[in-house]
Amino acid sequence: MTAAATEVPAPSRPVILTVDDDPSVSRAVARDLRRQYGENHRVLRAASGAEALDALRELKLRGEPVAVLLADYRMPEMNGIEFLESAMDLFPRARRALLTAYADTDAAIAAINVVDVDHYLLKPWEPPEEKLYPVVDEMLDAYLADGERQVPETRVVGHRWSAPSFEVRDFLARNAVPYRWVAVDEPEGRRLLEAAGVGPDRLPLVVTPAGETLVAPTTTEVAAAVGLSTTPTTDFYDLVVVGGGPAGLGAAVYGASEGLRTLLVERQATGGQAGQSSRIENYLGFPDGVSGAQLTDRARRQATKFGAEILTARDVTGLSARGPARVVQFSDGTEVAAHAVIVATGVSYRDLAAPGAVDLTGSGVYYGSASTEAADCVDADVYVVGGANSAGQSAVFFSRVAKTVTLVVRADSLERSMSYYLIEQLQAIDNVSVRLQTEIEECHGDGHLEALTLRHTPTGRSERVDTGHAFVFIGAEPRTDWLDGVLDRDGHGFVVTGPDLLVDGRRPRGWPLDRDPWPLESSVPGVFVAGDVRADSVKRVASAVGDGAMAVTLAHRYLGTP
Ligand SMILES: Cc1cc2nc3c(=O)[nH]c(=O)nc-3n(C[C@H](O)[C@H](O)[C@H](O)COP(=O)(O)OP(=O)(O)OC[C@H]3O[C@@H](n4cnc5c(N)ncnc54)[C@H](O)[C@@H]3O)c2cc1C
Repeated sequence: MTAAATEVPAPSRPVILTVDDDPSVSRAVARDLRRQYGENHRVLRAASGAEALDALRELKLRGEPVAVLLADYRMPEMNGIEFLESAMDLFPRARRALLTAYADTDAAIAAINVVDVDHYLLKPWEPPEEKLYPVVDEMLDAYLADGERQVPETRVVGHRWSAPSFEVRDFLARNAVPYRWVAVDEPEGRRLLEAAGVGPDRLPLVVTPAGETLVAPTTTEVAAAVGLSTTPTTDFYDLVVVGGGPAGLGAAVYGASEGLRTLLVERQATGGQAGQSSRIENYLGFPDGVSGAQLTDRARRQATKFGAEILTARDVTGLSARGPARVVQFSDGTEVAAHAVIVATGVSYRDLAAPGAVDLTGSGVYYGSASTEAADCVDADVYVVGGANSAGQSAVFFSRVAKTVTLVVRADSLERSMSYYLIEQLQAIDNVSVRLQTEIEECHGDGHLEALTLRHTPTGRSERVDTGHAFVFIGAEPRTDWLDGVLDRDGHGFVVTGPDLLVDGRRPRGWPLDRDPWPLESSVPGVFVAGDVRADSVKRVASAVGDGAMAVTLAHRYLGTP
């Protein structure tokens, strides 16, 4: 790791932008905002959504930060929700509020669902000290906690088709860290390599906003350099949660909000499988669906707001009971202890068994949606492998940019494994086609994917198709080898809990207590299991979150806290 000699420009004051077509209201909001925030922020106002978007485009080009957007709902041509939706494309980290009248409850609901608005303010907001400033303060805090920390100037230099470069980009994207991708053969890529004194054979190169350079780094090194927490602040907690998907985030929110010193440890990026979903349609309270990224962002902010500590890019590789303490080991040999542990490590995609797949993983063959690749799929022929909801959602997602999307499904119908609403959605998209009873026989390519051989199983006929993009969703399995010999697991590796641990009425071997294991409790007292990794769990976001909440209640009972 070396420090490049680049100067970091002084940061500009973050912008608070207000949009209202009524000049007197617009002036009044801007005046109130300037009085309170003018010293450390630039307060700008616009008279229409179009004018505000022009201003935002200019700010984007100048690289200036935007912290808060306040938009009136009722504006001609472009209403407040439409404006905020377009503004999100330019400044996704800016916090958003909608100004509404009492009568506009529907607008407020739409705003929550469509643009993930943080607040809606009822007009009039007099006195501002009570009705406006607390809301803006909260939005600025959220922006500072989440946005400023992740400074928007991290650059990644690498080869387009290199798996290690993909891994770093995917890691940054999934952790919502803004970065700029620079191909090694672009002039700027060459300039950055030269400044860092690095040859094109040692990539990717990551340059942080402060000018720190990392050569072919691990994700833990990248996480630490971009400001994601990787080290616990203490060595003993009330509760350690392993895994940062919906179950783990749910446990962290409930644990921390109920006063437990809570640490959440995530191997890659919070959100887990749900974080990769382009649209979760069936989660309670989101009638228009919610993207996994938005749900994750909200849950992560909620957990940290309540005081949970979140470590990213830390792999848990061991668990043991030392007297009353439950000890969690990391892959680098360090450890952290707690009174209780919740295992919420979910499941991971199964590997594609076809020849060529291993070598081309990250170079054209991807597991999960890999949203970082969407830009490269414009007008391309994309293949999505799998027949369940995750594959269906991905096909819908890529159909918006790709020339064609082909869903390769092993079964003889989609109805067996995909929700009806998704099948209907796919049928209505012209550039999506489905190949049933078809498997990937081979992946071809020198350095990156160039073609696939597809095999129609009933006839045995094989066909080679040209493509540079295959996204694989072929079922998932729990990766729980690290729990071998510690917790009881079923034949597929899922962790067994509660009454299922009793065999012929007998408690699990080594069980030290004079009571049966509680529901969600593993074969080690004080170690609870939540979400997809639990044997017989329902594989849904809602049930994972519910498991997380229930596991916290049981942890309280275990700790003897009210
Ligand atoms: C593309 C896609 C779309 C989906 N759409 C929907 C939907 O619309 N509706 C719905 O209800 N469900 C949906 N699901 C299913 C839903 O996402 C899962 O049921 C849910 O995410 C399970 O949550 P979880 O927290 O148990 O596990 P996961 O989401 O799998 O999270 C587990 C986390 O633990 C981490 N981890 C694993 N091992 C370790 C370790 N040793 N150390 C540290 N961290 C570790 C992982 O990196 C991961 O982040 C979808 C799934 C996918 C893949």
